[in-house]
Amino acid sequence: MSAMHLPNEPMYGDESSVRRCPWCGDADVRLVTRGYTGPTDEVDQYFTCRSCGETTYELVAKNGREMRMGRYRPGDLYREAPGQHHYRVSRVLKVGVNEYLIYLQPVASVDVASRI
Ligand SMILES: [Zn+2]
Repeated sequence: MSAMHLPNEPMYGDESSVRRCPWCGDADVRLVTRGYTGPTDEVDQYFTCRSCGETTYELVAKNGREMRMGRYRPGDLYREAPGQHHYRVSRVLKVGVNEYLIYLQPVASVDVASRI
């Protein structure tokens, strides 16, 4: 009997690199990376779940003016994401002269309702 073990799934050193749909828990997601050269010029990063069809945003890009208007701060709710879901700002990162990235954390709607 062979001791060889070939995992069916790729091994990840960091478990957090495995994306899971926050709404149904499935890992069968399709990631759209920011800056990916495709049919659309994506400035945001998100993934779509193949199981439930939901889209989850991971980060959105803002320019300096939008940042001043929106006053985004870590811990605040982010209300502008497309779709029906709510997100909380987890981190704000300056990436260019006039560009910022806002990292989003999905929030269950029950959680949102109880905090407003
Ligand atoms: Zn899902």
